[in-house]
Amino acid sequence: MSENQTIHEFDLNIIYDYFGNTQRQGPGSPEITLKALSFIGGLTAESKIADIGCGTGGQTMVLAQNTASEIIGVDLFPEFIQQFNQNIQNQNLMGRVQGVTGDMKDLPFTEGELDLIWSEGAIYNIGFERGLSEWRKFLKTGGYIAVTENTWFTQERPVEIEDFWQEAYPEIDTISHKVAQMEKAGYLPIATFVVPEDCWTYYYEVQHPQMQESLLEKYKGNKSAEEFIAYQRYEAELYRKYKEYYGYVFYIGKRIK
Ligand code: SAM
Repeated sequence: MSENQTIHEFDLNIIYDYFGNTQRQGPGSPEITLKALSFIGGLTAESKIADIGCGTGGQTMVLAQNTASEIIGVDLFPEFIQQFNQNIQNQNLMGRVQGVTGDMKDLPFTEGELDLIWSEGAIYNIGFERGLSEWRKFLKTGGYIAVTENTWFTQERPVEIEDFWQEAYPEIDTISHKVAQMEKAGYLPIATFVVPEDCWTYYYEVQHPQMQESLLEKYKGNKSAEEFIAYQRYEAELYRKYKEYYGYVFYIGKRIK
């Protein structure tokens, strides 16, 4: 799902029909989730992790299989959480992992409750700076945050892609600016790395033409569905054309006081 698609109730069924059966709803992969997790120390069976904007939980399952900690997935979209909890059941992870419907702008945690905040492809919904700053209080001192964020790879870009992202997500910026924002929000930057291109190509390939056509067929004459598919196609086309200029970057930080 994209940065400039605000979620209107009207669109929810369309979005669920489109993304509900995909393992991930944004660019990412199990290898990249594991790589990010490798920078985080000290997780035990007593630790508590929140995966914010978890979708149906593709990355949450990787966290669950590679830690012994309790994990709470939070997503605004009840249908994603329903699917998330079904996946948990299928993997026999009930009791330790749980999905709850909730808003990242009003999270159901208490101060200092969490050891790790995870958020892949979702912090843009609150904004990188606001998310980092508002979520920090939920972390224990020494706790970690790991998020992916759309980022410019170069100082200058062709006007077509510059204009597209300035309109879709004005907070897009370079790695050095994002790291400075992380420091300003009260974290020690631990690691940053670029999410590789194949995570994006996989994300766009999953949305194959057949899946798009069958959604258009199901919602024949529905303007929202047509606009949604047109947008998905345009975004994928821009990525193919301008991928050397931008992409997701993993930012991992630690709350040190
Ligand atoms: N983390 C998943 C992944 O990487 O596959 C999903 C990423 S998807 C691009 C963004 C997710 O953020 C969606 O599941 C969407 O429902 C969720 N979301 C959007 N606004 C939200 C909000 N205000 N609070 C919680 N979740 C939200």
